[in-house]
Amino acid sequence: MCGIVGYVGSKEAYPIIIKGLRRLEYRGYDSAGVAIGNNSGISQLKQKGKVADLEAYAADKDSSGSIGIGHTRWATHGVPNQVNAHPHMSGDGKLSIIHNGIIENYASIKTALQAKGHTFKSDTDTEVLIHLIEDIKNHEKVSLFEAVRIALAEVIGAYAIVVMEEGLNNEFIAARKGSPIVIGVGRDEYYIASDATPIIEYTNEVVYLEDGEIARVNSGEELEIKTIENESKTPYIHELELSLDTIEKGGFPHFMLKEIYEQPKSILDTLRGRINPETKEVKLGGISDYEQKIMNADRIIIVACGTSWHAGLIGEYLFEDFARIPVEVEYASEFRYRNPIIRETDVVLAISQSGETADTLAALELAKEKGATILGICNVVGSSIPRLTHAGSYTHAGPEIGVASTKAFTTQVVVLTLMALGIGKEKGTLSNTDYHQLITELELIHEKVEKVLKTNDQIEEIAKEFKDVSNFLYLGRGYNFPVALEGALKLKEISYIHAEGYPAAEMKHGPIALIDDEMPIVVIATKKGNYEKVVSNIQEVKARGGRLIAIVTEGDKTVKELADYCIEIPNCFEELTPLLTNIPLQLLSYHIALMRGCNVDQPRNLAKSVTVE
Ligand code: GLU
Repeated sequence: MCGIVGYVGSKEAYPIIIKGLRRLEYRGYDSAGVAIGNNSGISQLKQKGKVADLEAYAADKDSSGSIGIGHTRWATHGVPNQVNAHPHMSGDGKLSIIHNGIIENYASIKTALQAKGHTFKSDTDTEVLIHLIEDIKNHEKVSLFEAVRIALAEVIGAYAIVVMEEGLNNEFIAARKGSPIVIGVGRDEYYIASDATPIIEYTNEVVYLEDGEIARVNSGEELEIKTIENESKTPYIHELELSLDTIEKGGFPHFMLKEIYEQPKSILDTLRGRINPETKEVKLGGISDYEQKIMNADRIIIVACGTSWHAGLIGEYLFEDFARIPVEVEYASEFRYRNPIIRETDVVLAISQSGETADTLAALELAKEKGATILGICNVVGSSIPRLTHAGSYTHAGPEIGVASTKAFTTQVVVLTLMALGIGKEKGTLSNTDYHQLITELELIHEKVEKVLKTNDQIEEIAKEFKDVSNFLYLGRGYNFPVALEGALKLKEISYIHAEGYPAAEMKHGPIALIDDEMPIVVIATKKGNYEKVVSNIQEVKARGGRLIAIVTEGDKTVKELADYCIEIPNCFEELTPLLTNIPLQLLSYHIALMRGCNVDQPRNLAKSVTVE
């Protein structure tokens, strides 16, 4: 969920770790800490709040040493405070641990350890784990590497951990199960982190730890990796292609705005190499071996959470329209716990920006067990979902740092569109003419997105008008119903204004009661898709005094007469409008949040990569 950074070598570890923790800030966290080893032992420094708070706290303390680990915590066990912040020490103060994830059976381990005389300072599951490792190490007289391995064999849960030992100033032990760990390989030095962003400025050679693997990371030696079952593994070094400037703000005041503006490019990156320039056929290399399976699927079940779930809803319309395959879109967290009916002829498609979303991962595991074909649409290359699935497609949106998803959503929709178009064409459920028109439009959609981005100043003006309201209603129909849901979610996430999305026609069945002359209503009323019906819904809103912001097709006259504000998008096929209508809603949320003084990139209580259920 949060972040892990570590360094062992001959440089000063503390500045490297602090810089690394800053690079991981986008993941969302509530406290931060480091442990640094030197000849006088291990010193732990930790603080509730941001990395900057930790730095201020550490400023007058000794942080010298060439081995260290650092952590940003997103609390699961125990409130966010200094005591619960990581790292955590063993009872004898000789071992220090950082941990991402949850130790599910910590309570029973804790009771057993307490019976042996262990006492605990924090409320965390993590402290229990380091005491367990200490207990094993001292009683079985084994190395730290072995003690970690034996301890993890007892542990149920998800984790990425790094452990260091007093006096062992050139080595730490790392392990993962369910939470990511990347090891950067330097010359006589190693870096370790939850993802590659803290590492790329030092080395582009990395080793991804696999689930169930433990690494002995010693600056003077080759990496040694084994499994919890004590089987040796050969480390495989990957070359990273990520460059640093791809993760910096690029002149924008916030990552979120940068990422909103990156969408034309991200769309192009998503499409790159996937449409044959001559035949216009879709080629998604990652799923080509499974094309027949998808074509013949009785059903596609899309599992996802949050914004990705909204992309999934658009996928439902696309697959049903183009490929005539029944689709169900499920919240992964509900799906995994309700004994779902999954058949071998089903295709289960997971959507997740990070590829680490715990619920989505678990839903996929369940589907795999039941024999379904499992596919993924993810942004983070090499993350857990792509490694679990039979096949899948990356969105190639680039790193998304803003916690509220923007370009990841758009590119998820692009991948879904490509998949549905490709399958529809193969199956013959989509006419050649329709296919070619849609593909041509899709290839040029980035230009239209560019045009929509020009409405930014107008949207900023509208935001001024609405920044102080307490509620918002978003309405849309058909392909733009999920966009209404996503628009409402975006506003909630970053501005903390209560917002709800509804299918426009559902308004009469409840939300209409909320409408008075205070209530702002965003309506997506683009030409085609049920336009006349949406106009009727707008009339109903107007009749009750609601203040209307409408997203319309350029040249629209009818809605313009009714709405207080109109934002125009270029004319476009209905099926592709979500790629355009979503943009003004992202911008509206951004400006409103900013005007309310909110932290748009790191909204309160939210995490970028939700690796706990
Ligand atoms: N479960 C641990 C805790 O609450 C780690 C949470 C995290 O992933 O940051 O401290």
